[in-house]
Amino acid sequence: MVDETELRHLRRCVELAAEALEAGDEPFGSVLVSGDGTVLAEDRNRTAGGDRTRHPEFELARWAAAHLTPAERAAATVFTSGEHCPMCAAAHGWVGLGRIVYASSSEQLTAWLDELGVPPSPVRPLPIREIVPGLEVEGPVPDLAEQVRELHRRRYRPS
Ligand SMILES: [Zn+2]
Repeated sequence: MVDETELRHLRRCVELAAEALEAGDEPFGSVLVSGDGTVLAEDRNRTAGGDRTRHPEFELARWAAAHLTPAERAAATVFTSGEHCPMCAAAHGWVGLGRIVYASSSEQLTAWLDELGVPPSPVRPLPIREIVPGLEVEGPVPDLAEQVRELHRRRYRPS
């Protein structure tokens, strides 16, 4: 279950996704929280410059590898506006981070982008559990997923 504190972290992820959109990037945002509930790092998508690996979840995994002990990583949770893509899920698994809580799923995103006529991504949108079996994963959260959907709509249908 996602409690009130966790919803606050997810709302921050949606805010970061909105910031990314305002900056001309794809609307994704993520927050890394330690086992004792401290926000350690946050980021948003930065792919507009041309490097399509600049996903926030990937940046947070690398930040965790550089700054946290293995035990601290295992106890930490990554909150994110959209479920990790396979690249980010693999990075998360390789550095040994803990639970993931997402506002919207890859399955939802795929359906929304398809509706908007966006061509499919070059990477298959596999669920996190297909990439990192055994990881504790929570989501989607319906109200927030709807907000994320609106951000994607604004990206492709600005009006
Ligand atoms: Zn990713």
